[in-house]
Amino acid sequence: MGDDSVGLIDALYTIGKEFSSKTSEIADYLSLPMQNGKEIRVYLSISNIEDLNSVEDKPLQILGVSKIDVADFLSGIGNDEEKKERYLHKDPPGANTSWRYSPLLRLGKPKVDREKNRIAFFGEENSYIEKIKNMLYDFERMKYFEKGSTEKVINDLIEKADRILECYSDKNSSYIIIFGIDRDGEFIYPGEFATFRRYFFEKLKGSLSAAQNDGKKRCNYCGEEAKSFVNFDEIFPFATFDKPNFLPAINRNFSNKVYMICDKCYKVFQNSTTYVQSHFTDKSIIYGIQIWVIPEFFTVDENTFDRSFRELKDYFLTDKSSKEELLDYITDESTIEEFTSVFHFVFVEQNQAQLIIHRMIEDVPITRIRKLKGIWKYTVNTLGYSFDEKLSTALKTVYRVLNNLVLKEESEAKVMRDLAVNTISQILSAEMVDTSLLKREFVSRISKLMNNDQKKSQFNFILNDFLVLNEFLSKYNSSLEGLI
Ligand SMILES: [Zn+2]
Repeated sequence: MGDDSVGLIDALYTIGKEFSSKTSEIADYLSLPMQNGKEIRVYLSISNIEDLNSVEDKPLQILGVSKIDVADFLSGIGNDEEKKERYLHKDPPGANTSWRYSPLLRLGKPKVDREKNRIAFFGEENSYIEKIKNMLYDFERMKYFEKGSTEKVINDLIEKADRILECYSDKNSSYIIIFGIDRDGEFIYPGEFATFRRYFFEKLKGSLSAAQNDGKKRCNYCGEEAKSFVNFDEIFPFATFDKPNFLPAINRNFSNKVYMICDKCYKVFQNSTTYVQSHFTDKSIIYGIQIWVIPEFFTVDENTFDRSFRELKDYFLTDKSSKEELLDYITDESTIEEFTSVFHFVFVEQNQAQLIIHRMIEDVPITRIRKLKGIWKYTVNTLGYSFDEKLSTALKTVYRVLNNLVLKEESEAKVMRDLAVNTISQILSAEMVDTSLLKREFVSRISKLMNNDQKKSQFNFILNDFLVLNEFLSKYNSSLEGLI
């Protein structure tokens, strides 16, 4: 694709392909509404449940709400793919969209005060009940629910307000509310019911052809002719989309914001975003920042290529509690070594529906990442401190040292976080790090740190961390000059 650096986009495409569902028509379009939390399940009682199994096209005759309960998100039997399909979730095309692909709504974390939750849920303006009404009404309007169904459900929800607030009470948990079918007391998820799947596909078709469509055009990604297209920002809602200096780093075509892709590519990229955000993302290094770690393999040997992805899949399938972090997995010499690979790093912040890109570092060779780990290991061993030798620990130390220097203001926290993003980006890009800048930031705060009630007791740790980091970065800088 020309001389532009499209490595990242190609790598995302490959991930979407490699991790696509081989069995389900619908799975690749889906994403998870949240990573973990609780779900309030609303059981809808249906009068014509029997003939729905045989005659699919009839609208649901909803009698009302028979039961409301709360469960852990993603609980129950089945693997992750099967569970994902149960929710039938896909983010709606815009923040102001009132309908949803599936009868499911994200809720914020509840407050401790139940009356405040009551207002959030049942208040007059912008309340969840309003959103639920709009969401369900679309099923009625499109003839998937019989006329009057929405009103019955809403009336029942208002009547059962106390039960809902009882379920919506864990202030530490994120929540969704999901509507399913009551089949003899069992909750049937939307994805398990033909009516909801048909609604999903009809909405999907609508959102694809709603995009620009004047005759046959070619997809900007694969080059094939197609009839329906979507803009790339449907998939990656980068807030920085139109920053001319930024996105051409991926592809010159992005600079004019119009980059239309066909529905086949859409499906692949859609699957990729879900996979990247749940599997190829590190959230443990910098608070509030996702670091996408996207692999790209270069080999002409298909077996090697397949094996490399199989190894990644095996890694993702291992038990979470015993799993090392992705960065540590790839810097382990016994994995990913028989072929040439590079990694793309994207530092992303989720801001409501948008993604803000802080940094993008493309084409980082695995050898460079492993060398960084080697420098960290050497530093830790020479100084004899009780740090572990993992690369993730090195990067966490960068953030921790800088964050320790924050004394009060929120703006200072942001400055230090940016400095951490900058420093980590520099070492991934093989650029010199200005250690004198870090030293100045530290030295200028010593007296404040020692007089700060919260920090003075930890001062020895803060100093210790700083010395380790300084040593690591100095050794790193020397390595660039070929001194070690
Ligand atoms: Zn295409």
